Amino acid sequence: MKHNYPKVTIIGAGNVGATTAYTLMLLGVAREIAIVDSNVQKASGESLDLNHGISFVNPTSIYQADYKDGCQNADVIVITAGAAQKEGETRLDLIKTNTKIFKSIISEIVKYAKKEAILLVVTNPVDVLTYVTYKLSGFPSNQVIGSGTVLDTSRLRFLISQHFQGINAKNIHAYIIGEHGDTEFPVWSNAQIGGVTLEKYLKSCSNKNSKPYKEIETELKSIHEDVKNSAYKIIAAKGSTYYAIALSICSIIKAIVRNEQTIMPVSTFIDDYYGVKDIYLSLPSLVGQNGVEYFLRLDLSPEEQKLFKKSAQTVKKIIEENRQ
Ligand code: NAD
Repeated sequence: MKHNYPKVTIIGAGNVGATTAYTLMLLGVAREIAIVDSNVQKASGESLDLNHGISFVNPTSIYQADYKDGCQNADVIVITAGAAQKEGETRLDLIKTNTKIFKSIISEIVKYAKKEAILLVVTNPVDVLTYVTYKLSGFPSNQVIGSGTVLDTSRLRFLISQHFQGINAKNIHAYIIGEHGDTEFPVWSNAQIGGVTLEKYLKSCSNKNSKPYKEIETELKSIHEDVKNSAYKIIAAKGSTYYAIALSICSIIKAIVRNEQTIMPVSTFIDDYYGVKDIYLSLPSLVGQNGVEYFLRLDLSPEEQKLFKKSAQTVKKIIEENRQ
């Protein structure tokens, strides 16, 4: 960033928004956190609660704000406002309600945001709403980002780590790409542990899991299913998900405000990749102070190419239906 006092504005003080503010405060990522919500009382209550813990962390100014005070001079504006998935609902079921909410929110944001601000969309269905934000805001595509499959990728790494006797998840380079939703998939062809492919890793490690790659394909499929169904499982158990998504959001914000140039699978604008274009989907992307610098053009296997196209078709269909 061009200054040392990052300001982050969170639109939506619900479970995800409030937990994001708390996580930002704990990690010392932002110097200023503005919280905006149509429910002013909720945003004020969350700000007050967080402020009462300020003496234990780095100085951070946290306050409830309207769009004007909230968005002015913000480096990153995170949108978590809108309806959340309920038990039995898919992310795509939320589209009508949340597009309507986004129309009012984005018009307010663009009135006050500086032209270099990064807009980070978290509300579901995130790929569709990031595209909506890009179109409504008129901001360059690199400055409009969706949280995408950053969370799903973290879930994948956690599950692979568990599968391989708790190997540090940081040593696992494997990505979930495509839609943040039911058509998402892991790129097994590019997955690596400690710099070697999964296949080589299985051959070279001498633990009880050192089976041939072919034999663990069923296990890998079940890991994929577990990742895909994680949110459903958590929502059924406790109503909503917020801790891991808040950490995912903070890692994206940190990459932006510290200009880290970190590679993460955010939802990014796809100009042309395997024939897929004019859409937001997740691919490993370089994230820094300008938002997404570029995405990595992974070599996908023929099967993975099909899955990516299917994911794109699903999201495109919703965008088209939503236009009417
Ligand atoms: P929540 O119901 O707890 O909070 C939503 C908040 O939005 C509420 O405080 C509400 O007052 C506010 N809001 C509604 N309309 C508004 C408007 N017009 N202007 C300003 N504020 C408004 O929901 P949550 O659990 O915090 O989830 C928020 C969103 O994040 C949902 O869409 C959910 O599906 C999504 N989510 C995404 C991911 C991801 O990986 N992308 C993960 C978890 C949740």
